Amino acid sequence: MPWFKGNLHTHTTRSNDGKATPQEACDWYRKRGYDFLALTDHDHVADEKDWQLPDGLLVIRGVEVSGNHLVGLDVTRGPDKRLPIQEKIDQILQQGGFCIAAHPNWQFDHWPLQLLESSNGYLGIEIYNSHVSVLKGSGYALDKWDQLLSQERRVWGLASDDMHNLESGLVGCGWVVASAPNLSLPDLRRALEQGDFYASTGIALESLEIRAEQIKVVAPMAEEILFIGRGGEILERVQGNSAVYSVRGNEQYIRAECHGSNSAAYTQPEFLSSWRQRKLPV
Ligand SMILES: [Zn+2]
Repeated sequence: MPWFKGNLHTHTTRSNDGKATPQEACDWYRKRGYDFLALTDHDHVADEKDWQLPDGLLVIRGVEVSGNHLVGLDVTRGPDKRLPIQEKIDQILQQGGFCIAAHPNWQFDHWPLQLLESSNGYLGIEIYNSHVSVLKGSGYALDKWDQLLSQERRVWGLASDDMHNLESGLVGCGWVVASAPNLSLPDLRRALEQGDFYASTGIALESLEIRAEQIKVVAPMAEEILFIGRGGEILERVQGNSAVYSVRGNEQYIRAECHGSNSAAYTQPEFLSSWRQRKLPV
């Protein structure tokens, strides 16, 4: 199965703070090899009349709902930003969409852990947000991710640009790569929902193989590979660009981080309680 690369958090001139038109955003990402792009303006659902689709790009209609920022994807209307967060999530799910908690560690603890714990139905959280990486707080949220995973929450980790300005130098810095049979919205959604994808800030995976008792990851650009378990504990640290982890049986979950000098790839966790053998891509 092929890999498809995409950015799921993008602002345009349809947001009060976006600098690129929807068309410029589509063209920019397609020219740099992206296969899919979600347009997620603040409290404004992207409208297909606003762009002409570049060949080979799948555009997902989305919105970023204000409040505790919530990215809604594959939606036709955005929830009222004054609603409680769970009602916003429910409205997105009810119209057949899916959602992601944006930049949990942006200033003032944007998504407190308690809120992530008490909310249900979101697909994942942004473990890296490029736009926030130069703002107050942190663009990373690996701490909250591991805390949720340690509670057996099936919450995936995503990286995004949260693009506001194509000239900012913060674009093309966070993305996801999904393993799907075809570049179609149903196939992509299935891959995202099943966790058949990884998040990246610059490192590409060549393969990820999950067997009964082993995880094997190959990332040619990586210098070091970490396997992480419950509570963010480093289970194993391997120098080089490929590694095999042998399951001990008491890890609860295992995820891999493939680090280069300045960037990384993050695989989705495998929970011992629902282990799925598979190979990405096949
Ligand atoms: Zn945003």
